[in-house]
Amino acid sequence: MTTYAFPPHTLPTVPVEGSDSVFPVRRILCVGRNYAAHRREMGGDERDPPFFFAKPADAVAPLAAEIPYPPATGDLHHEIELVVALKSGGANLTPEQALAAVFGYAVGVDLTRRDLQGAAKAKGQPWEAGKAFDASAPISAIRVMDAPAPEAAVTLSVNGAERQRGQVGDMIWNIGEVIAKASDLWTLAAGDLIFTGTPEGVGAIVRGDRIVGEVEGVGRLEFTLI
Ligand code: MN
Repeated sequence: MTTYAFPPHTLPTVPVEGSDSVFPVRRILCVGRNYAAHRREMGGDERDPPFFFAKPADAVAPLAAEIPYPPATGDLHHEIELVVALKSGGANLTPEQALAAVFGYAVGVDLTRRDLQGAAKAKGQPWEAGKAFDASAPISAIRVMDAPAPEAAVTLSVNGAERQRGQVGDMIWNIGEVIAKASDLWTLAAGDLIFTGTPEGVGAIVRGDRIVGEVEGVGRLEFTLI
């Protein structure tokens, strides 16, 4: 039996809608620039494909009513995203095999310290300071369901004013392709979450703002920045 030097940290989890069980989070992968209009607003090259980055598993903030404004930034941005939750995994999956590995779907916000991300980009440095901070992944409960329809709206409002609106079908890499491409780079496993990218309209939020994100047919999350 393993003897820990000190008590091990608690496994990060996400509630499962309509269930007493919770989803144990192993890894969080995120897709960058998976919607063409968002890629344009970020100044991306039209020919560059989407790509992956990661957040630590304990960045999840499930069903959080309040999210603390993070330190070291003056430009915190919202990115509303469909999140895929895996019940199995593997490597080099086909898109069809990838879809069969899905446990369910959730709504997430990829919170971003845009000023730190921009500085890292300019210097060719890694993105962790901009993307992988504490509570940087607010998330709804996971709904066990088949993939949302391509017409399903992906929306986010701040203090009641709509900021982002897209559709699941706007994604450059679709759901099966996102998982399959991730499995070409990492061996995926049960407990992995994949944030699938954000539509256009990202922008700054400040303390006191009320953020409401929704993916039609999947769920909704709302939190106040404090
Ligand atoms: Mn994102």
